[in-house]
Amino acid sequence: MSGPAGRLDAVLVCGGKWHDFDFARLQLLAALGGYERVRTRVFEDYRCTGALDRADLLVTYTCDVRPTAEQADALTGFVERGGRWLALHGTHSAIDPPDGPGVYRTPRVLGQVALLLGGQFLAHPPIEPYTVHVTAPGHPLVAGLPPFEVRDELYVLELHPPIEVLLHARFTGECRGFEEGHVTDDEPRPVLYLKRSGRGTVCYLTLGHCRGRFDVQDLGVDDLGQRDFGSWDVPEFRTVLARCLAWAVTGKFPEEPAADGSGGSAGVSPRRSSNWYRRQLTASRRAGPGIGSQVSSQEVRVATGPTPPTTRIVTLASRPRGRPTPANFGLDEQSVGEPGPGQLLVRNAYMSVDPAMRGRMEPTEKHYTTNFTVGRPLDGSAVGRVIDSRAGGFAPGDFVRHRLGWRDYAVVDAAAATIVDPALAPLPAWLGVLGQPGLTAYVGLRRAGDLREGDVVFVSAAAGAVGSAAGQFARLLGASRVIGSAGGAEKARILTGELGFDEGIDYRAGIAEGLAAAAPDGIDLYFDNVGGDHLVAALYALNVRGRVALCGMISTLEDASACPGVNHLIQAVLKRLTITGFIVRDHEDLRPEFEKQVAHWLRTGELVARQTVVDGLENAVGAFLGLLSGANVGKMLVRLSDDDPA
Ligand code: NDP
Repeated sequence: MSGPAGRLDAVLVCGGKWHDFDFARLQLLAALGGYERVRTRVFEDYRCTGALDRADLLVTYTCDVRPTAEQADALTGFVERGGRWLALHGTHSAIDPPDGPGVYRTPRVLGQVALLLGGQFLAHPPIEPYTVHVTAPGHPLVAGLPPFEVRDELYVLELHPPIEVLLHARFTGECRGFEEGHVTDDEPRPVLYLKRSGRGTVCYLTLGHCRGRFDVQDLGVDDLGQRDFGSWDVPEFRTVLARCLAWAVTGKFPEEPAADGSGGSAGVSPRRSSNWYRRQLTASRRAGPGIGSQVSSQEVRVATGPTPPTTRIVTLASRPRGRPTPANFGLDEQSVGEPGPGQLLVRNAYMSVDPAMRGRMEPTEKHYTTNFTVGRPLDGSAVGRVIDSRAGGFAPGDFVRHRLGWRDYAVVDAAAATIVDPALAPLPAWLGVLGQPGLTAYVGLRRAGDLREGDVVFVSAAAGAVGSAAGQFARLLGASRVIGSAGGAEKARILTGELGFDEGIDYRAGIAEGLAAAAPDGIDLYFDNVGGDHLVAALYALNVRGRVALCGMISTLEDASACPGVNHLIQAVLKRLTITGFIVRDHEDLRPEFEKQVAHWLRTGELVARQTVVDGLENAVGAFLGLLSGANVGKMLVRLSDDDPA
């Protein structure tokens, strides 16, 4: 049990039959890894009795893993002396498959472990969407949850009461393919429940089915043709699982942080079905499906203390002529001010630097948002932690994305801030692939570029934030071949070696020649971040009825006369091209779909999120100037504090 210095010992048992245990193991291990005090030992079955002797918590995700009598004694002893067992999905299953065509049987071989677990799996109907209902809305593990839909195995159980049911589903009918479990009584089918034994508790969550393409080969199905993530894409499932894990780790049910922002004590809160739970859920919903290590496991670390009187802030000292220099910027110390009604005080963790800021330094409009004013602060996207809130729906400790970067602290209008969940994606991703650059790439391909299955796609500035996302999204959305250009041989290598492009062109060696060699049969879609000579080269490489998504023209920011590309537009006539400019902010309606899709790709590891991080506000100007000359791979960010739970 918990060591003198506060270490908690966890045992994770994940293995068995017919499921994607690698996926589940990674998810659960990553979640446990989010707790600083927890050390986890991992097993495939119950040959963990030695580890159980010292364990504080046990987490299991198994199917047809049957404990021996000795192991069953060890499991019972663990719970009865006060252990916490979070049992997931098929832990209480013992399943004999038929030899040929026939039915699966569920022999009662789990004995005392079935009693400990409060039930045993009998059968499930074919996997279909079904609704999970909240049985005990006042219980902290499920408070604030609406009924939610999952596509998972709906378990019919042989129950061993007494159990406290927190979530349930409804089902009557036949469980095709199983010997038992054909039910006519419309009793609630427990989905989440607690079973107490001795001084300990089992928390059982039946959801969490996941299956890879090759996980049922032993049943004669060589390739299922697709992966099945069951409930893992459902925010409500992620929320419940995170709360159950928090209980398993701390021994306490999750509680709302105290109103003074101190994070609350660890008991059961009298205000437990409050907005806090709803906010958690809203944040997960906004983010769509969870990602990689996304089962939230972070204890809420709330920053407290008085409002700092001043903050460092970067200002525009003068307008540049040609390429900006450090002399065009100032670093001032200014009063932070107190947040007023509807405002938040935020300590920034990361800020974004973007090519668009170059345009905003001009006296006349060269971009699509307001110009910077000489002598006044710069602004731009940032994420940070709320340290004081005077706005409903935001609490100290929340992380928010907002528009007041270029300073360490900011007083932000809550209406212009969005809660982000660092447990669903690391903070930098919320400014990169899950933020504006990612959405720009998605909009450019889906809307402006009208990406089609089988397209050959060319992306310029492909190693940058928008470009690296656009190239990868294009591939994931069905392009047959993706070509990227970047400055230098090393960046061209990163395109193919790390970011999944088929061809990487070093444009410094000649973009027209490079593109002609990389796409001998032409391109169907050009995603233009650069303009100038790149656009001209693409106009010649495009096939008849090709498309161009005009995203940005970084090569012309300082000198638009360098390459009179407009003279080549006759190509658009000859080839009946469609050339569409777009601005991301016109396409907010795509954001939910985008976040859901990208979060899924991140979670499955199909998408690489790269960023270049520079430390300290004092180096933010250098980061911006570096961006303009290609010092970044992926999103260029500045880290403003070490307040990152990752
Ligand atoms: P990036 O991360 O791509 O950084 C800019 C990159 O541009 C540099 O890393 C550099 O890479 C490349 N670059 C700089 N100068 C040149 C040049 N003369 N020729 C070719 N490449 C050059 O920035 P973002 O991803 O944030 O932005 C990419 C583009 O998307 C920009 O044009 C931006 O304005 C546009 N944008 C458009 C939006 C819209 O709504 N339409 C929204 C957001 C961005 P390298 O080393 O390869 O030269």
